[in-house]
Amino acid sequence: MTISETVSAQQEFFKSQKTKDVNYRLKLLNALKIEILSKEQDIYFALKKDFYKSEFESFISEFGLVISELNLAIKNLKKWTKPQRVKSSLLTFPSKDFIYKEPYGNILIIAPWNYPFLLAIEPLIMAIAAGNTVVLKPSELTQNTSQVISEIIKNVFPIEVATSIQGGVELATELLAQKWSYIFFTGSVPVGKIVAKAAAKHLTPVTLELGGKSPCIIDDTTNLKLTARRLVWGKFLNGGQTCIAADYIIVQNNVKEALIENIKNEIIRFYGDNPKNSSDFPRIINKKHTERLAKTLEGVKVIFGGQIDVDNCYISPTLVDEPNLNSALMSDEIFGPILPILSYELEKDIERIIWNYEKPLALYVFSKNTFFIEKIINKFEFGGGAINDLLIHFGNQRLPFGGVGTSGMGAYHGKHGFNTFSHDKAIIKRGNWLDPNIRYAPYSNKNLNIIKKMFKWFS
Ligand code: NAD
Repeated sequence: MTISETVSAQQEFFKSQKTKDVNYRLKLLNALKIEILSKEQDIYFALKKDFYKSEFESFISEFGLVISELNLAIKNLKKWTKPQRVKSSLLTFPSKDFIYKEPYGNILIIAPWNYPFLLAIEPLIMAIAAGNTVVLKPSELTQNTSQVISEIIKNVFPIEVATSIQGGVELATELLAQKWSYIFFTGSVPVGKIVAKAAAKHLTPVTLELGGKSPCIIDDTTNLKLTARRLVWGKFLNGGQTCIAADYIIVQNNVKEALIENIKNEIIRFYGDNPKNSSDFPRIINKKHTERLAKTLEGVKVIFGGQIDVDNCYISPTLVDEPNLNSALMSDEIFGPILPILSYELEKDIERIIWNYEKPLALYVFSKNTFFIEKIINKFEFGGGAINDLLIHFGNQRLPFGGVGTSGMGAYHGKHGFNTFSHDKAIIKRGNWLDPNIRYAPYSNKNLNIIKKMFKWFS
């Protein structure tokens, strides 16, 4: 089938109303769960082959989260899809008022390579749960995982309901030229702009899950050993290739040296003296990205790590001391195992650094000072974050996950994901037993005055 034939088949299928049947959706989600569970080892194997990701990290950051999302959708779908009654307005009395969850129709999902299984399958789950059809394009950079994804989808869904098409930029461009009911994109800011432009042509709504330079602020009230341990976990998980990893640290200058010592100790504790030999430390996704990262280390002060082996896509966990904000390292999202350490004396130093960048996807604070924490949360705009830890806000399905400004628009996870793929259709069911004629022509001043009073009382 060509792309346009696939899209037409999905459009026709959507019109057949079959995906509106909640039991049909549940059947698909249950089948997807069984299929994914049966492919658990294949998924770990593929992730290992793609970028040497360990089974442990593959479970906690991909497989486990996907299964939780499936369980949540299966458990709650009947409740989520029921028209939700809202309080009526006395101005429309007598009536019963509802929000109907309406599937958008035909969804395009474009996924990145960094959590290639999770970030492809999680939006698929909620798009299907909400009653849509899906064309998914997984990343071309993680071919083994993308192959498993395609097999899973082929084994569960008829093409007219969901299909996974593998390819790179050319394919993505062709897909974006089609008319979709909704586009869900996860990836970089520059490509996000291309997606938004293509969507604008048809006024297609979009969710853009993008990136940015996410700061981590550490003050002198925090427990440095615990902070360093959580920091090293969140920064170097997935080889640092995490959209919500701390891109850089801003530490209060009187504890900077002690923090650095703690971070070094934790890196060695996690990955040994030579992280290249650790089965827990992933590789960079490809040589191009390894070269890109290696270049950012030119001309900056490396104080730990810095070992690079481009042929094997390896960069060791690396700490950089006080890079210039104009350096290559501090110009773009790093997206690798390199941690710049900046310091502050006064709060205005923090402002100067953070406001040098667009609104980030995440922001973190390590502190025991609740006043300081609240001030930071309220002062800076960012997608979401955590206090005294990294990444963990991603793990709570009750929290919406998404960016703001150039770090993205829209959000998902759990019910928020179901909502993302559903249009809220407002319906008022009017009673016929009362029909005062004051709103009807011929209009009179008397009726207008009554209506003005009603607006005052009831709104
Ligand atoms: P990318 O933008 O290069 O690619 C993402 C997807 O877009 C891939 O499927 C790719 O094939 C496709 N694509 C690439 N060029 C395209 C083009 N010209 N037109 C249409 N589609 C195109 O991103 P990536 O390198 O795969 O992922 C890394 C980026 O994604 C980082 O910036 C990271 O912060 C971001 N990210 C964000 C989230 C989030 O949830 N907000 C999650 C993971 C990654």
